[in-house]
Amino acid sequence: MTETTPMQSTTSISKMIKWQQDMKASRRKIGFVPTMGFLHEGHVALIKEAKKNNDCVAVSIFVNPTQFGPGEDYQAYPRDLDADVLLASQAGADIVFCPEVEEMYPTDGGIRIVPGPLAEQLCGASRPGHFDGVLKVVLKLVNIVQPDTVFFGMKDAQQLAIIETFFRDFNCPVTVVRVPTVRELDGLAKSSRNVNLSVQERNEAPAIYNAIQQAVVLVREGVTMEVVKQFVADALMEKTSGAVDYISILTYPQLEEPTDVSKDLIIACAIQFSKARLIDNIIFKREG
Ligand code: AMP
Repeated sequence: MTETTPMQSTTSISKMIKWQQDMKASRRKIGFVPTMGFLHEGHVALIKEAKKNNDCVAVSIFVNPTQFGPGEDYQAYPRDLDADVLLASQAGADIVFCPEVEEMYPTDGGIRIVPGPLAEQLCGASRPGHFDGVLKVVLKLVNIVQPDTVFFGMKDAQQLAIIETFFRDFNCPVTVVRVPTVRELDGLAKSSRNVNLSVQERNEAPAIYNAIQQAVVLVREGVTMEVVKQFVADALMEKTSGAVDYISILTYPQLEEPTDVSKDLIIACAIQFSKARLIDNIIFKREG
């Protein structure tokens, strides 16, 4: 694909399949970045990473209804397709796939994919069925795009662990690349949902990353996990008006209780603000 080829955009599954078949016919390696749109520098980092190691890059933009539970923010999820198409093109995407819900899910229900124990912790505990919906849409998208490599952000670390396990368990011939979390200058993880924070909540939100950074130091100093989690809870209650959904320290990517000292750890938390639920995490080694 040359620099001058204009980026394509399609809502059609059959056109998307035709594109990837053309790419494969000319032996081009396909990198794929699935997103829910309202793109920001985090998504741009994924697209640029995909561009580095592939001949062409497909980006999907689809706010997937099956991963939202009743009462969650499916309707309020921010959307701006025109801006997304521009940003994806500037970042180096060759095609944007932005299907309608009716095209992706022509019938209600159908087969569910149940991810099991990895999805019972963290966000999976608070959002029952969320990862069933994530796996279903990821499998559909990967079958449509048939990429060589697919790129996911470490901001959604549980999602990444589940998807890696899913592909491995089902021998999906696709490589997963983990991309580090991109942050605002004040440390807040970039997220499409940040736009739904009030001005006050936006000012408070950097406390999340601050607290989990301090927690990493405490774990490395040998402070017990329970005390560290309480420290984070206290900091978040003092410095934000949000409600703490969970604060967990587990092994990563197994998401088990951290008894095995040789394994990497994740400290992860979720905070519910008035109109946005934010998540963040740090993956780290016990020895700093
Ligand atoms: P989303 O559109 O929020 O579903 O995210 C699409 C992809 O972008 C997922 O793989 C996310 O993990 C990734 N992503 C979202 N925010 C960030 C960020 N701040 N840094 C890096 N990757 C991100």
